[in-house]
Amino acid sequence: MNERYSRQILFPEIGKAGQEKLLNARVLIVGCGALGASHAEMLSRAGVGYLKIVDRDFVEFTNLQRQTLFKESDAAERLPKAIAAQTRIAEINSEIEVEAIVADVNRSNIEALISDVDLVLDGTDNFQIRYLLNDACVKHNKTWIYGAAVSSYGTTMTIVPSETPCLRCIFEEMPDAGSSPTCDTAGVIMPIIATVSAVQVAEAIKIIVGDLASLHRSLVQFDLWQNDWRKIKLAKPNPDCPTCGARNFEFLDAVTGEFSAVLCGRNAVQIAPPVSTTLDLKLFRDKVAHLSDVRQNDYLVRFTSGENEITVFRDGRAIVKGTDDISVARSLYARFVGN
Ligand SMILES: [Zn+2]
Repeated sequence: MNERYSRQILFPEIGKAGQEKLLNARVLIVGCGALGASHAEMLSRAGVGYLKIVDRDFVEFTNLQRQTLFKESDAAERLPKAIAAQTRIAEINSEIEVEAIVADVNRSNIEALISDVDLVLDGTDNFQIRYLLNDACVKHNKTWIYGAAVSSYGTTMTIVPSETPCLRCIFEEMPDAGSSPTCDTAGVIMPIIATVSAVQVAEAIKIIVGDLASLHRSLVQFDLWQNDWRKIKLAKPNPDCPTCGARNFEFLDAVTGEFSAVLCGRNAVQIAPPVSTTLDLKLFRDKVAHLSDVRQNDYLVRFTSGENEITVFRDGRAIVKGTDDISVARSLYARFVGN
């Protein structure tokens, strides 16, 4: 084994045997924004042998403040994040394999994406994908590590199916679209990204080297600005949980519906929330007030972002003009409306 990993091998909980396991491990990172890029960098430096990175977005200048793998030229070229990450990691550790997939993660591909990995790390920015990920990982008995960060606040939880509570044991209902802050409405500072990602990656390494006894087994929450660090110990899975108790995978089986559609001939896409909702348009307008051309009437809020005009209706639907690509429209929806 080369000297690259010598300091990590000196750490007795990893050692030579643990390093071998890392080199043989296969990890999926879902979403390569701030959290995902940080996971990818740490896991590649640690020598995880195979990383599969999936992301639907491209690098923008607004990402550079916190998305550590990316540089100005990536943003100037609007490179897909998965591709930019793969290129950068090849410069960091050429001995590992990185598979970059530029795609929208949805119920049609999630089971295939997780099928050949040992572990899944959440690097997404929305609950729609997280509930889908939870369904798929519980169904196929894959461990996944939830992580989220916005503003100066972050949270993480490690989900070992049938051993720990799953995401729906803790948060049974997905938050309503538009009800939660997002990095594009509330902002975010890089230290909270580094903090949440560090806990997620430490848990990943414990799992890969087989030290399950050292998992934190908590819902961990941090607010770095308010200096508030909290750990809520988790008990057993909830037997009444619709996902891991009843094994009813409604996000995967799309019982809740999915109505995103390209609007023919209009260069626009309609995105519908996964569950019906009623948006408080005044609150929503305040959240997006810093954006350009914000207009509101009794039925909708409209604003522009770059080349796209986005119209959000009271029922949570949005029409994204300036694209006929559903994944581009979904990405904008997640950024500004949430979920
Ligand atoms: Zn559950």
